[in-house]
Amino acid sequence: MKYILVTGGVISGIGKGIIASSVGTLLKACGIGVTSIKIDPYLNIDAGTFSPYEHGEVYVLDDGGEVDLDLGNYERFMDVTLHRDNNITTGKIYQSVISKERKGDYLGKTVQVVPHVTDAVQEWVERVSKIPVDGDDKEPEVCIIELGGTIGDIEGMAFVEAFRQFQFRVNRQNFLNIHVSLVPQPKATGEQKTKPTQSSVRELRGLGLSPDLVVCRSSLPIHDAVREKVSNFCHVANEQVICVHDCTSVYRVPLLLAEQNLIPFFKGRLGLDLPLRPGRSLSKWKELADRYDRNTNPVKIALVGKYIKLEDAYISVNKALMHSALVCNYRLEVKYVDSEELEDEMREKNPVKYHEAWQNLCGSDGVLVPGGFGVRGIEGMVKAAQWARVNKKPYLGICLGLQVAVIEFARNVLGMKKANSSEFVSENDETVVIEMPEHNPGDMGGTMRLGKRKTFFNQHKSVTRKLYNDVEVVEERHRHRYEVDPSKVEEFEGNGLKFVGRSEDGKRMEIMELSGHPYFVAVQYHPEYLSRPLKPSPPYLGFILAAIGRLTSFITSGCRLSPRSSFSDGETSDTEEELMTFHVSNALRQNASH
Ligand code: GLN
Repeated sequence: MKYILVTGGVISGIGKGIIASSVGTLLKACGIGVTSIKIDPYLNIDAGTFSPYEHGEVYVLDDGGEVDLDLGNYERFMDVTLHRDNNITTGKIYQSVISKERKGDYLGKTVQVVPHVTDAVQEWVERVSKIPVDGDDKEPEVCIIELGGTIGDIEGMAFVEAFRQFQFRVNRQNFLNIHVSLVPQPKATGEQKTKPTQSSVRELRGLGLSPDLVVCRSSLPIHDAVREKVSNFCHVANEQVICVHDCTSVYRVPLLLAEQNLIPFFKGRLGLDLPLRPGRSLSKWKELADRYDRNTNPVKIALVGKYIKLEDAYISVNKALMHSALVCNYRLEVKYVDSEELEDEMREKNPVKYHEAWQNLCGSDGVLVPGGFGVRGIEGMVKAAQWARVNKKPYLGICLGLQVAVIEFARNVLGMKKANSSEFVSENDETVVIEMPEHNPGDMGGTMRLGKRKTFFNQHKSVTRKLYNDVEVVEERHRHRYEVDPSKVEEFEGNGLKFVGRSEDGKRMEIMELSGHPYFVAVQYHPEYLSRPLKPSPPYLGFILAAIGRLTSFITSGCRLSPRSSFSDGETSDTEEELMTFHVSNALRQNASH
C-alpha cells in the first residue's frame, strides 16, 4: 500500500480537496486502484449534526455514513464508493481510544495522546486503506489521505505527529507528502509572493514531515522565477514544485497535474507500476473541461431552498445539475432562490426581495426544491411547487422537495386545506407526510433513514423508469425521517399524482410523477450523491432535458443523446464517440441492483 498524505499551508479553502481528488483521478487513469481518507480534526463524531451553514452540505454514503462534503469530491472524481470510516474525526479517534480504556485494554497504563491517540490514527488509516472501494473485492494500491485545516492548527497536531511516525512504520518508499500552499499576488505590487509558502513548509518540516511536492495555488500561472524561488527556499527540486492556478473548471486540475509530469514522479518516488502516459479516461476529463468552456447556451435552474446563503450547502445538487447540463452541452446557470422570499408576508415586509425572488423563479427553465429540515421557508417551497405544477414547468423535488409537492397537491388539488407534514405541525386528519421510523431512535445524529435503499418501479410507463433504462429496481441514498402517508396514496393516485417507485413492501413512497405534466418528478432519496461527471443521475438528466425541451426526443430515441445535442461542433473524435453514445443505462447500470 502506498500512502499519499495531503496537507495544507497558509489558509484552508484553497482547493486542497480538489487537488487530492485530482491526484487520485490521475492515478486511476493509469489503472491504479485508489482509495481516500479525509481527516477532519474537529471533535464531532461525524457531520450528521452539522448545520449546512457551518460546513456546507452533509454528504451521505452508501452505508449511511454522514460525512464531510469532501468525500463527495473523492467519490465524484475517482468514481469510488467510500465508507463511513473513510472519514476520520478527532471525535471518532478519541471515542475509540476511550472505549478501549474503559474495557481495560490498556492494562492500567496512563492513556496519552502520544502514543495511544497517534497509534489509533495509524491503525485506523492502515485498516481503512485496505477496504475495497471499486465495487469488487480488490484491495486498493494507493490511499490518499487529506488532513483538513492547515499545518500548525492545534487540533491537527496529533494527526501530524501520527503521520510523522507513520512514514517510518510503512517505509519511505511507500509514503509521500504533498503540501498545498498559497502563493498570493497582492494587487499593490502585482508580484507573486512565496513567503507564506516558505513559512508553512518550514513549520511542516519542524513537525517532522518533508514535502515531496509543494503545490502552489495561485490566481494566475506561476512564473518560472517564482517556481525557482519556492524550490530554493523550500528545499525541493524544481520539478517538485507544482503550480495549480485558478482554472475555468475543476475538471482541468487533473490535466494540469499530468502536464507537470506527476505520473513519472509517482512512478519513480513510489515505485508504482505506471505507464508514462495516462489512459483514455484522462482524455475524457479533457473533453469535459473543454466542453465546460465551450458551452454558452444557458439552462436556467431556480434552486428554491433555505440555506442559500452558502452555496456549499447544495454542492452535490449543483454538481448533479452540472453533470447533466454538460452532457447536454448546456451551460448551467443556477439561481439560488430563498424560499422565504416567495412567501406572501414578504410582499409587505420586503417587496423588492419578494419580486426579485419571483422573477428568478419565473425566469427559470426548471424549478428544483432540494432537501432540508425544519419549518422555516416551507410555505415558499409549496408556492414554488404550485407554480411549476400549474405552469407546466419542469420540477424536480428532492426529499423535502417531494414532501412539499405532495403537500401542495393535497391542498390545492384535493382540497385538503390543512395538509402538511408532521415535521411542521401536529398531526391531524389531513396530515399527508408522517414520520415512518425504520431506525432506532437514539442520540442526535442517528435517528434517520440513512444510506442506500432499494426502490421498486411498479409500472412500465414511468418516465423516471425510462430514464433509469427501464430497470425494475434502483438503489439510491437516503437521509430523511418523514414520508408520504401510505393511507392517503390512493386518493393522490386517483387524481394523477402517481407513486411509481416504492419500497419492496410498497409502503414507502420513493418516486412521484404527475400525469399530464412535462416533467413533475420528485424522489424521497438523494440521487445527487451518485451522480458522476461522466454518468449523470437519471432524475437530474431528465430534469435538465425537460428544461431544454429535449426530454421527449431523448426518450423516443431510446434514451440516447443525439450527436447534435451532445456536441455543438458536429465533429466526432474517438473520445467524443464514447461520450456521444453515452447511454443513461450504462451510466446508471451500476446503481441498479440487478
Ligand atoms: N426534513 C425531511 C425529513 O426528515 C426531509 C429531509 C431531507 O430533505 N433530507 O424527512
